[in-house]
Amino acid sequence: MRKYSSLHEIRKDMANGQVTCRQLVGYYLKNIKEKAELNAFLEVFEESAYAQADAVDKKIAHGTAGKLAGMVVGIKDVLAYEGHTLQASSKILDGFKSLYTATAVKRLLAEDAIIIGRQNCDEFAMGGSNENSAFGPALNADDTARVPGGSSGGSAVAVQADLCYASLGSDTGGSVRQPASFCGIVGLKPTYSRISRYGLIAYASSFDQIGLITRNVEDAALLLEVIAGPDDFDSTVSHREVPAYSKQLKSDKKYKIGYIRDCFEREGLDEEVKDCILGVKNMLKDDGHTVEAVEFPYLDYIVPTYYILTTAEASSNLGRYDGVKYGFRSPNVTDLSSLYKKTRSEGFGEEVQRRIMLGTFVLSADYYDAYYTKAQQVRRLIKEKTDELLQAYDFLILPTAPTTAFKIGENTENLLAMYLADIFTVQASLAGVPAISIPVGRDEKGLSIGLQLMARSFDESQLLAFSNTIMEKITVEV
Ligand code: GLN
Repeated sequence: MRKYSSLHEIRKDMANGQVTCRQLVGYYLKNIKEKAELNAFLEVFEESAYAQADAVDKKIAHGTAGKLAGMVVGIKDVLAYEGHTLQASSKILDGFKSLYTATAVKRLLAEDAIIIGRQNCDEFAMGGSNENSAFGPALNADDTARVPGGSSGGSAVAVQADLCYASLGSDTGGSVRQPASFCGIVGLKPTYSRISRYGLIAYASSFDQIGLITRNVEDAALLLEVIAGPDDFDSTVSHREVPAYSKQLKSDKKYKIGYIRDCFEREGLDEEVKDCILGVKNMLKDDGHTVEAVEFPYLDYIVPTYYILTTAEASSNLGRYDGVKYGFRSPNVTDLSSLYKKTRSEGFGEEVQRRIMLGTFVLSADYYDAYYTKAQQVRRLIKEKTDELLQAYDFLILPTAPTTAFKIGENTENLLAMYLADIFTVQASLAGVPAISIPVGRDEKGLSIGLQLMARSFDESQLLAFSNTIMEKITVEV
């Protein structure tokens, strides 16, 4: 079997009788086994995947298969799937099985996608390198001494290394876009509230969005149109109509594009990344788009604002893991308070504990106004300014990350460097606007470089169409 790079090819081969869903599942399971060292999957769902494959093969024979028939999808270990283990790459959820299925996963299944397994990630999606997983890091398939990015690292590697066709991840501050950038594939974070979060383990609820990791823009569009839209189980989800994104991917419009000047003058921005993104910017200009430098005065504040608010929300969200309701309970407890303390100290990893403590501190009575309230106010300023720029421009473009994939261990000693590496992705998360990372080049070491585009809230149609146009122009090997 060959590596498929579009669902059309799969569908064509299925229609000709050259491939079946059962064979596809077998192919990916074999790849997962052969490339086990990448540590992309925490578990494969062999039995349920084959059962689904057989059911879909039957439907195909009867001409009744859904839109996603032939698509084999992996899910980040933060998405609930009834009857299957779910643990956010954390020891604290050891032995926990989902009692229900996330809305997004349910909708995939309803359109005949096959779920092949759950994927490694940073514990509770906290991190940018997949090094915070309780199950060891996932490795970048382009260079296994390097990280795949995070927190949806396993999900990105899985698509990069052809261990599944597409992945569902989550993006709170860049966790789909940055690993997509490091692995040379596409990562889409839709507008906040576009996709139901029901069944997504919460990290920071006012930021969390399910995102898509795919080989091309078309698949991201197709997956988005399947999973987006109202859901009775999530009262925050938008009721706006969901366009047929995958049918609107052609665009010859000339756009107004802004680039934040300051982003390109930052210390820490790798020269090769900078040159590559500036090259794309010039290409867009040559193609007749209007490309202008814009000012965004809050760049220095976005990372601190993000980390104050997300740790605050995390400290509250993670309160539920107390050793009583879910998964792991310390065997060494003597009374109720030691049950909480020991379970949480032994169950959570170091980074998660750090964030819970940071979040608890910024929410404490004495510091609430100085940190939490202040950060909320700054978030408002960032959102208003971002929206204002996106009224004047159709898109804002910038690098997805300041560097290409870094070495395992390179940033673990310097946490500030790790946090600051989120500088380009957290703006869209603070503002709630959609953003995508697409592969546009490689550095001298052969490592992938991602271009990020941000668009107006709920303007995924134009965002996807334009990204598709750019990718058609720049064909990068994926
Ligand atoms: N790197 C960011 C963080 O650690 C983003 C994580 C995410 O989007 N889940 O918070």
